[in-house]
Amino acid sequence: MQAIARPLARVAPKHVRYAGTVSAWSAVPAGPPDPILGVTEAFKADKDPRKINLGVGAYRDDKGKPYVLNAVQKAEEQLADANPDKEYLPITGLAEFTSAAAKLAYGAESVPLKENRIAVTQSISGTGALRIGGTFLGRFFPHVKTIYLPVPSWGNHTPIFRDSGLEVKGYRYFDKKTVGLDFAGMIEDLKNMPAQSIVLLHACAHNPTGVDPTPEQWKEISNVIKEKSLFPFFDMAYQGFASGDTSRDAFAVRHFVAEGHQIALSQSFAKNMGSTASAPEEKARVDSQLKIVIRPMYSNPPLHGARIASTILRNEALYGLWESEVKLMADRIIEMRSRLFENLVQQNTPGEWSHIKKQIGMFSFTGLTQPQTKALAEKAHIYMTADGRISMAGLNGRNIDYFSESVSKAVKGDL
Ligand code: PMP
Repeated sequence: MQAIARPLARVAPKHVRYAGTVSAWSAVPAGPPDPILGVTEAFKADKDPRKINLGVGAYRDDKGKPYVLNAVQKAEEQLADANPDKEYLPITGLAEFTSAAAKLAYGAESVPLKENRIAVTQSISGTGALRIGGTFLGRFFPHVKTIYLPVPSWGNHTPIFRDSGLEVKGYRYFDKKTVGLDFAGMIEDLKNMPAQSIVLLHACAHNPTGVDPTPEQWKEISNVIKEKSLFPFFDMAYQGFASGDTSRDAFAVRHFVAEGHQIALSQSFAKNMGSTASAPEEKARVDSQLKIVIRPMYSNPPLHGARIASTILRNEALYGLWESEVKLMADRIIEMRSRLFENLVQQNTPGEWSHIKKQIGMFSFTGLTQPQTKALAEKAHIYMTADGRISMAGLNGRNIDYFSESVSKAVKGDL
C-alpha cells in the first residue's frame, strides 16, 4: 500500500482534501516490533566477535554461513541453459511443481493422489499457504469457524488465522515441567473441543518447541480427531528437516490420509497448499474457489522458485542429491544437539537436559528462563527469543563450546 505523502498532496488538484489538513494517517498507532526480527537487530548491533544469533530459524552451515544447496545450484544452471520464458503462471501456479510437491508430501502411493482428489495450489511460501487455507476455510468451512492451535505455536499462526476470519483458540501441547509433550492434556483438550472444529497440527519439527508426538501418539491423536469429527489442518514447514528423511517426516500426514481423514495441508519447503476432496469433481470445485481466493490477493505466484523446486523433484539425480543434502543438514543439527547435551552434563549444569537431544528439527525449547536469556544477551553476546527458544542451526563447531559454557554459567547464576 502507498500513502500519499503530504508534499505530494500539496500539488494535487484542489478537490484532494489532505493538503494543509491533518494527515489521514495521524491516528495510526505504532505497532509493536516483531519479537523474532528484533533479536536479529540486537545481534547486528553487537560488536563482540563471540556473538551468536540463535533467533532466526534459517539453516547455517558449520561455519555459520547460509548454505545454498548444490541441488539448487545445479537446477539453476540447467534452467539457465534451457533459457525458458518468463510468462505469467496460472493462478494456482506451475502444475508440474504442485504435482511433484503433492507427491512428496502424500507419497507416490497415496490413494487420493492417484484418484485425482487433491486440490493443490502453489502459494507465496508457507505463510501464504496458511493464509489461503485460512481464507478458504473462513469462506467455506460448513461448521463453526474456530481453529485450535497448539500452545505454544509459531507466532504468526494466530494473526494469519485471525486475519482469515477464523476464531483462534488453543489446546495444551507443551509441558513446561518435563520440557516435553503434554500428551494427556492434548488428548483431553481434543476430546473437549466442539465437534467439527478445525485443529492445526505441526506435521513434524514443531516450532517453537522441537517437541513432536511419537508415531504411536499420532495414531491416538488421529483416532480422537476422527471420533470428534474434527478437521485437521497440517502445517508442514520442515519436511525432511526433522529426521533427515522426507518420508519419515511425512508420517503423520500420510497416516491421517490413510485413515480416511479429509485434511488441509500447507507445505513450506515447496510453498504450496492443498486439500483432499472426496471426488475429482469436488476437487475441481475446490480448485475453482482457491483461484477466487488467490486472484484478488496477488493474482498468480512467482515462477522462478517453483521452476527450481520442480526441476529438482522431477530429476532423479538432482532429487537424490537434494535428499542427501537434506540429510546432511538434519544430521549436523542432530550432532549439535548431542554436543550441547554432553557439554552441559560435563559442566555439571543444574537440571535435566535430555530434552535437548530428544527434541526434533530446527528449534529447541531450552527451558532457559527470561532472566537467563537476558543475561546471555547482555553478558555473553548470545541472542535468542525471550522464551528460551534457540535455532539449533545457529550452533556450529566454532561456537558450541562457548555457547554451552555460557548457558551453564547462566543456569548457575555465574554469568
Ligand atoms: N509454519 C511454521 C511452523 C514455520 O515455522 C514457518 C516458518 N518459520 C512457516 C509456517 C512459514 O513458512 P515460510 O517461511 O515458507 O512462509
